[in-house]
Amino acid sequence: MRVMLCVEEALQEVLSHCKRNERMHVPLKDAYGYILASDIHASVSVPPFDRAALDGYAVRAADIEQATPDSPVRLQVIERIGAGQVSTKSVGPGQAIRTMTGAPFPDGADTLVRLEMTSAIGEPEQTHVDVKVAVPCGEAVAREGEDIKSGMCMLRSGITIGGAEMALLATAGIASVPVYRKPVIGILASGRELTDIREPLAYGKIYDSNSYMLAGAVQAWGGIPRLLGRAGDDVDELVQTIQSALPHVDGLVTTGGVSVGDFDVMIDAYRKAGGEVHFWKVSIRPGTPFTFATIEDKPVFGLSGNPAAGFVNAMLFVQPAIRAISGMNEPIVRPVRAFLSGMPEVRAVALDRFLRADVFIKDGTVFAQPRTQGQKAAILSSLTGTQGFVRIPSKTQPQAGDLVDVYLLHMPVSFADGDRV
Ligand code: AMP
Ligand code: MG
Repeated sequence: MRVMLCVEEALQEVLSHCKRNERMHVPLKDAYGYILASDIHASVSVPPFDRAALDGYAVRAADIEQATPDSPVRLQVIERIGAGQVSTKSVGPGQAIRTMTGAPFPDGADTLVRLEMTSAIGEPEQTHVDVKVAVPCGEAVAREGEDIKSGMCMLRSGITIGGAEMALLATAGIASVPVYRKPVIGILASGRELTDIREPLAYGKIYDSNSYMLAGAVQAWGGIPRLLGRAGDDVDELVQTIQSALPHVDGLVTTGGVSVGDFDVMIDAYRKAGGEVHFWKVSIRPGTPFTFATIEDKPVFGLSGNPAAGFVNAMLFVQPAIRAISGMNEPIVRPVRAFLSGMPEVRAVALDRFLRADVFIKDGTVFAQPRTQGQKAAILSSLTGTQGFVRIPSKTQPQAGDLVDVYLLHMPVSFADGDRV
């Protein structure tokens, strides 16, 4: 077991034990949020045929070269078609087909004049049209394959499926989408002080909040949480809970019991459950005692029990692990660089600090303001509304105006007055 790794070493070790899940298929309507498991090639061109891009008349450009509002050119209207209808005639000299958006572009015509630039002639049945402008060849005609060419790679394996990707999959006629199975992440809280949220609190006890914090975070990061409840600080009870949970999960997150206290028995439990503990402690604050093991080849994350410390551990290590297991191309979430807009007094320590911060854009530049209150590992309330964590490298004391790394959470950054992205 290695002790006291830096974040990057720890992350590398964690990811080296995270295997991508197997493939499966989901109906397209349910594909949102999954990671695509193969490249998708277009089976048809989009649009599949030349079509009208506006409501108007399909005409020959040469016929209307002289058209002006004062001296319109009169053409004979030989047919009328809408989207989904196919013209049965061909546009000859002096002729037009009234053609609505999306309709296949009629033969014989080479351009389209928009409806607003014409007047219909003939009541009740239209016979002619007066065209008031000249338009060049090819105007308002969407060519076959203009958007997507048949056979081209539209989507790469490993991307996250959102609304736009669902639409592209639909254009390829893919009703059943190849995806990676989402990681099921077991969540086990440890500590004999923990109480089920449905029970009254006895003196000396607290409610288990970590399980719910992680249930939310795991979902936000693309996993499926499986709450395993609470275990006391008892090795045998932990071993039994871990062993019975493992067959049903792709990874396990425990909280509590990884520090140096008399009842911190998690590492013993991992070992007794047949696991290999790869490292203990990462040079960060909060969250130093983070522990990583594999049991039955599955990654097991030993988070600090202190809520904010556990959250930092999860953000740094569980999040990329979920992304790797779910098949993402880029499992590591990189920080952005931002200017410190201010800096609270913090002692320089030989650990990288992760400070809860407000992140905002001012005059097009990203700034981060670490909160002046509520930076302790045990403080939960300041986590809500936190937009990112500022990383202060060990033994440094950056000042306002310095550039720092910020690990953004899922909340959007806010804007100073008048600023827009
Ligand atoms: P530990 O990491 O077990 O030493 O716990 C550190 C602190 O976090 C203690 O004050 C615990 O009571 C608290 N804690 C541990 N687990 C949880 C949990 N699931 N929910 C809320 N607080 C917890
Ligand atoms: Mg404890």
